[in-house]
Amino acid sequence: MFWLILLVTPLASAAPLAKVMVDMTYTFDETTLKFPGMKKFELKTLINGMTEGGFWLRVEEFSSGIHVGTHMDAPAHFSKNGKTIDELPLEHFIAPAAVVDMTAKAEIDPDAEATVEDLLKWESTTGQSLNETILLLKSGWGKKWNNRTAFFGTPDDDAAKLHHPGLAPEAAQWLVDNRNIYGIGVETLSFDKGTGFGKEVHQILLGHGMFGIENMANMDKIPIYGATLHVMPMKIGDASGAPTRIIATFPVVLLDDFTGGFRRDAESCYKA
Ligand SMILES: [Zn+2]
Repeated sequence: MFWLILLVTPLASAAPLAKVMVDMTYTFDETTLKFPGMKKFELKTLINGMTEGGFWLRVEEFSSGIHVGTHMDAPAHFSKNGKTIDELPLEHFIAPAAVVDMTAKAEIDPDAEATVEDLLKWESTTGQSLNETILLLKSGWGKKWNNRTAFFGTPDDDAAKLHHPGLAPEAAQWLVDNRNIYGIGVETLSFDKGTGFGKEVHQILLGHGMFGIENMANMDKIPIYGATLHVMPMKIGDASGAPTRIIATFPVVLLDDFTGGFRRDAESCYKA
């Protein structure tokens, strides 16, 4: 009889891997921060109510600059023959996050740069290569998102007055010469520091086929190694970038490696 019971008992599904999920995307609305000069995000309600047909209907339309809020820069943004957002390879959109922590130096100097030494320190700390990762610069800037002047480093809407951290051009050059990353993501308006008017880092990384992600949220809620990024830019044809939804996932067991504060943060994200 035992084998019969086995046959009729439905198979239990495999235990799912418990995961923390962190939304690294800011909401798009009329308050969403944008690079100076870009058109802000606007949502217009066209219909919101009962129709003559007797059913409820709600329809909106939106307009926005491309480089607004949490978004991806495609290589075409700074490279004449670079790929547009719709041409980027899918396999680069789901990849390990390599989180280089430059918070301490950014606290002291808003124009701080992540250097080659910072990148090598991540590799020696984690025992991993930066190859085939998405490099994230953790600067603490996300805490300023709700304070526009602090986030921009100026009360003015003037690209020449910005102050925020970024990647050093020498480190960008070292990356394209020595490593194969898929892209870079930052908490700030740009992965060139605010005073980097020449956009050298954009030219180097996008010029070598990598993508960039700007205005990422919740960078302090993921581990420096062990999270997988799921980066989903809107598939706009022939565009230099797109609004992008980003979700980081990592096993709950990783939380045991962190402090009590981090554990609570991550668990509240998981439940949200
Ligand atoms: Zn951009």
